[in-house]
Amino acid sequence: MASFEKNWEKALELLRGDISEASYEAWIEPLHPKSLDHSKKILYVECDNRYIIQVFNKRYLQLFENAISVAYGEDLHVEATVFERAMEPEKMGPSNSIADYPLDDELSQENYLNPRYNFESFVVGKTNEFAYTAARAVAEAPATKYNPLFLYGGSGLGKTHLMHAIGHYILKNNKNKKVLYVTSEMFTNELISSLGNTDTRLKAHKRQTQFRNKYRKVDVLLIDDIQFLEGKEATQTEFFNTFEALYSRNKQIIISSDRPPQELKSLDERLTSRFLWSMAADIQAPDYEMRIAILLKKAEEENIEITPDVRAVIGLIAEKIPYNVREMEGALNRITGFSTLMQKPITMAFARTTLKDILANSDSIISTESIKRNVCKYYNVTLKDMDSPKRARSIAYPRQIAMYLAKELTDQSLPKIGETFGGRDHTTVLYACNKIREDMKENSTLKEEIEEIKNMIR
Ligand code: ADP
Ligand code: MG
Repeated sequence: MASFEKNWEKALELLRGDISEASYEAWIEPLHPKSLDHSKKILYVECDNRYIIQVFNKRYLQLFENAISVAYGEDLHVEATVFERAMEPEKMGPSNSIADYPLDDELSQENYLNPRYNFESFVVGKTNEFAYTAARAVAEAPATKYNPLFLYGGSGLGKTHLMHAIGHYILKNNKNKKVLYVTSEMFTNELISSLGNTDTRLKAHKRQTQFRNKYRKVDVLLIDDIQFLEGKEATQTEFFNTFEALYSRNKQIIISSDRPPQELKSLDERLTSRFLWSMAADIQAPDYEMRIAILLKKAEEENIEITPDVRAVIGLIAEKIPYNVREMEGALNRITGFSTLMQKPITMAFARTTLKDILANSDSIISTESIKRNVCKYYNVTLKDMDSPKRARSIAYPRQIAMYLAKELTDQSLPKIGETFGGRDHTTVLYACNKIREDMKENSTLKEEIEEIKNMIR
């Protein structure tokens, strides 16, 4: 075997131990090595399914690059592209990059549902409780209660996860139901492909009928990231017709978006008005406790033992990556992946090195200055007083809070923090940190105040 293939096998072997068997089969196995460009340091891989590449890029690229770099013995990037099939004449549409979506009359049960995205693996908390409950209700009794269901929220907060969970649940409990999950991008691409103008008229007609049948014969349509349709008028019209066809026959429709319906400005009014009548449920960024719970769940899924060190590392990630579960998960994967590859235990020091760039990023955003400014604003203290020797409680206590936050939110050392607070000693900072930490345990109002200040800072 040439070393190129050998190294490829080695990389796969490394990865296999790192992710669940199901994920490996779904997202890694379909990839094939194509070529290695030494000068650009890029390994090109191919796959015949665009969605797999999308998921791969989102979830596994980092881990994969690590494994590839170790196996090939050099720092490599990985670029995945859609496998160019030999073109059959009838497949030639205006955009051949999407030749990988078969336009079948029969809707296959292969709905691209990620096996890991189910209700059991979804952590429920204050910020997603409503969306979860609505999703669950729809899954248990499609097209009876909330139709359409409109899930919205920022990137990486679990919209796709919930949609797949609904899909799994319905398929499991009712094998006869036709469930179709698509991203709005897939929908658009398929539509364009179905309109291919190199066909004979008859063929073109057949393709369009196939497209319509595919979408209008389902019992449950899940369409992800509807904001992608903004500005795409022809696709919107087609989607509107699909929507009406399904809705009038009492079929369940579930839509996700990164914004609430009223903020989808360049979308056909006929669509937005229907969305406005839908059951809209938002998902917000998880709070600290929830972030910890999610990370613990992910660690458990990957069979990682929760040692005190791992728990501390999870705390670090939850603290540093507040807004995006996907990124949080990526950070955890990176640490566990590296730890396996390098056969090193997971410790705080190891985590800090592995996440150097991410931590540097979050630290550069949050400076001691901005912490001070926000604490001053919150407690109505002047910046000058904050740095002064004054010891009145109305000033000293906010100062201690600011020190505590500086320790929590930045990577600054205690002496360095002391220096920025009017040249105080590091023991003063340490004392402040411990005090606030203790006070927070007893005093839930203080805890809330500190959460609010953190939000202001960010
Ligand atoms: P979105 O579609 O909103 O951009 P995803 O559904 O793709 O986000 O979620 C990103 C990642 O975060 C996924 O791996 C998902 O499993 C995970 N995730 C998000 N929210 C939760 C949650 N509440 N519990 C468990 N995992 C979550
Ligand atoms: Mg998504």
